[in-house]
Amino acid sequence: MPTQTLIRSKLPQVGTTIFTVMSQLAQEHQAINLSQGFPDFDPDPKLLTFVTEAMQKGFNQYAPMAGLPLLRERIAEKTAALYGAEVHPMDEITVVSGASEALFNAIMALVEPGDEVIIFEPAYDLYTPAIQLAQGKVVPISLNATDYSIPWAEVAQKLTPKTKLLILNTPHNPTGSILQQTDFEQLTALLVNHSAWVLSDEVYEHIIFDGHQHQSVLRYPALRERSLVVSSFGKTYHTTGWKIGYCIAPPALTAEFRKVHQFNTFSTPTPLQHALAAFLPFREAYLELSAFYQERRDFFAQLLAQTPFRLLPCQGTYFQLASYGHLSQEPDTVYARRLTQEIGVASIPVSVFYTDQVDNKVIRFCFAKKYETMERAVERLVQHQAKLAS
Ligand code: PMP
Ligand code: GLN
Repeated sequence: MPTQTLIRSKLPQVGTTIFTVMSQLAQEHQAINLSQGFPDFDPDPKLLTFVTEAMQKGFNQYAPMAGLPLLRERIAEKTAALYGAEVHPMDEITVVSGASEALFNAIMALVEPGDEVIIFEPAYDLYTPAIQLAQGKVVPISLNATDYSIPWAEVAQKLTPKTKLLILNTPHNPTGSILQQTDFEQLTALLVNHSAWVLSDEVYEHIIFDGHQHQSVLRYPALRERSLVVSSFGKTYHTTGWKIGYCIAPPALTAEFRKVHQFNTFSTPTPLQHALAAFLPFREAYLELSAFYQERRDFFAQLLAQTPFRLLPCQGTYFQLASYGHLSQEPDTVYARRLTQEIGVASIPVSVFYTDQVDNKVIRFCFAKKYETMERAVERLVQHQAKLAS
């Protein structure tokens, strides 16, 4: 009879994801939870009605493996309208159970033992464990300290014949930075002599501020033919708990991607797919999302001006970074924990998104919240201001 002591962990370095750790801690201490990224408001009632109707009409059995054809057609229409990319709904779009599933499938499908995968840190916490499970080698590159931009000269050095994949994320979680056209020009030039694929995590594509336009990989034909692009309805429609998204990739890459998808989840909840297909033509829901969140970003920043935190620029996503190194030398994991326990406001320490736990004394707040939630949180921070320093 095997005992626990005989388990040889495939992920010895991995504990419980920071999102679970901090949300649980927030709950234990009745803290206002600005840690894990999710809205505390409801989705559009129309969308909810569409799900109920789909269930009542009997759409409760397995959906087609690659996704409901109507949903894929509507995703193709949206992609053409937004990014000027003609994407074939049947051969190039796969509906999946969240962007997480898409990222995992893509890494499993492409990365072989010993292959190198370039990631940019701080990096979303799923990438490294997925690469390790595929027995790939993580090649981390730190984003530039001043503005979290990509140091392309270092990318040029670290691209090798063994580089199988390069993972991009724009708008970027946790920093809120975005990639610009010049970044894609540099990437295109760098990849000319390489065979690496690109996995582009664009789940915050509709949350971008100050008039910037989202630079999807799909806008760049030379990149598009070597890329898998991942989107999430969770972020766009305030439905993170539905876990539904999609992956766009050229037919040959999609075929490999689906080999994993079909044995990972096989398909994604049918009533949700019907509802999303019905809802996608209401374009304002995603076209107005940037303005919706920009107002929240500005509101939150204005409130936080009453605290001694230094705010870092946020050009996209629903995350605001705050630096506290001038207040305390506590490690960010300790600091975030203490703020949750003593002040009742939960955040995410950014060091956990680095392979080497680089601690720049920065924490991440989520502002996908009702105005009153943000007000209550900042009231607590102001009221207990003395505790922000230690
Ligand atoms: N990538 C990034 C950068 C994210 O922030 C998230 C959200 N948690 C995901 C992927 C996963 O998205 P989903 O909830 O659709 O699986
Ligand atoms: N993407 C969300 C965040 O960054 C959390 C997702 C999760 O909890 N797995 O907070």
